[in-house]
Amino acid sequence: MIEIAKNILTEQFLCTHCLGRQFALLGYGLSDKERGEIIQNALVMEYYEQINSDEKISLMIKNISKCNNELATKSYQKVTKKKIEEEKITCELCDGLFDKLSNFVAEIKQLLLKEDYQSFLIGAIFPAILIEREDNLRAKYGITTGETMKEEFTREIGKSFSDNTGKTPSFDLPDITIIIDLKNNKINIEKRSLYIYGRYRKFIRTIPQTRWPCWECDSKGCAKCNFTGKMYQESVEELIANPIIKITGGSGSKFHGAGREDIDALMLGNGRPFVIEIQEPDIRSINLKRIERLVNRKAKGKVKIGQIVITNKKKLQHIKGSSTKTKKTYRAKITFEKEISSEQVTKIAQELQGAIIKQKTPQRVMHRRANLERPRTVYDIKVKKTGEKEIEAEITGQGGLYIKELISGDEGRTQPSFSSIVGFNAKCYQLDVIRLHYID
Ligand SMILES: [Zn+2]
Ligand SMILES: [Zn+2]
Repeated sequence: MIEIAKNILTEQFLCTHCLGRQFALLGYGLSDKERGEIIQNALVMEYYEQINSDEKISLMIKNISKCNNELATKSYQKVTKKKIEEEKITCELCDGLFDKLSNFVAEIKQLLLKEDYQSFLIGAIFPAILIEREDNLRAKYGITTGETMKEEFTREIGKSFSDNTGKTPSFDLPDITIIIDLKNNKINIEKRSLYIYGRYRKFIRTIPQTRWPCWECDSKGCAKCNFTGKMYQESVEELIANPIIKITGGSGSKFHGAGREDIDALMLGNGRPFVIEIQEPDIRSINLKRIERLVNRKAKGKVKIGQIVITNKKKLQHIKGSSTKTKKTYRAKITFEKEISSEQVTKIAQELQGAIIKQKTPQRVMHRRANLERPRTVYDIKVKKTGEKEIEAEITGQGGLYIKELISGDEGRTQPSFSSIVGFNAKCYQLDVIRLHYID
């Protein structure tokens, strides 16, 4: 180690950080700067007796002295009876980057002055030239014990920033990610989205689950959408998100539901799980009870949320991926094209109880789903006659079972169906989700 360090410092000027970093993998518990100081002192002692006699050693001691090393400065003066001229000299490896650590910390502090956050992560983008330079140095002197400049830089900034502000460094799910872009000389701040999990119920038949942009004008606004850019003026998403965006100062939102019901279907019972993602929030410490009350007051009669808690991106994937593992109970009102007998009603219930339905992608969703045939189970079915041509059914089916098509048969694409069992057309005219059996 001493030999390598001597070889480097007799030929070029390295700051204390850059020297120490070449030996970062030797032992634990020291910063690279502390390592650098130890090596500098060892070099001065090791070569003290040659300061006067060896020109290269003399240069090395001067280089070490310029890193504010007192031992080097005093030893040089003692032996040579000469003073080392004071001149500003820049590290040939990092271009003086590590002299500016405190400036970066101060700048980041200033940038985050108004942010509401607990944890942070420091990242950096390094210019290729700095990385190449260090690679070349290591190749030239046979160094295999170093860490990267970026590792030291981000760690030191992170440590100092944490000491300065009391905020917690986090690699896993930081509230704020600070990217120091040394290529373009700027600092970018990325705020982690705020995720709120809950369940919603929907009490009206006129709003979609998510914001529905106008197809005609691509959200720009046209006569068809009454210049709103939207096909529907409200949605479950907007009713939930808008008040929360207002409170948190977020830049936008994304709605993730555990499946969805049709626009004209109610969502009753225990509600449907959802996660609302608030992007780039200014405020994270929120009062959930207050938010719940506010959303429910504004969406009164349309949507009601409950059981809301803060969650994270990982749990979100669980919710999204679980739709076929759920069971759902629907209430359907059905009309037939002809009069239906009590025997036929009983036959429907008997044939569908526990049946596995072969269901091709319904024609109405073909534009956004792949055309596949899927087997889906009907777990339970209760049917009662409500008129000459009308029945009401309560159907508990596997997640992903399309109920409207189970009833109509979708021109033979769903087998069996209410229509195929009685031999003439059935149609669902009202459909509500009355319970979602969801495994959290
Ligand atoms: Zn340096
Ligand atoms: Zn439009």
